[in-house]
Amino acid sequence: MNWGPTGTARSMVTFDPDGLTWAQRDGDACVVCHKKWPRPRVRVGRLPDDSAVLACADCAEALFPAPLAKVVAFPARF
Ligand SMILES: [Zn+2]
Repeated sequence: MNWGPTGTARSMVTFDPDGLTWAQRDGDACVVCHKKWPRPRVRVGRLPDDSAVLACADCAEALFPAPLAKVVAFPARF
């Protein structure tokens, strides 16, 4: 499954559904800030039943700092 250019190779974190609301479990709300709009779009983990856990871009970046939102440009060498 390809979720876009943000690093699908990262191993998925499994979240405990007991700590999540129904909206969060359904992927309707950000797992961090509970925001439903704009819709969370970054898959930050999964549940034990393998459904996706989503977060908005800002929260995902806070959860997994470096690789997400940024493209690192390597300086050219001479
Ligand atoms: Zn959020």
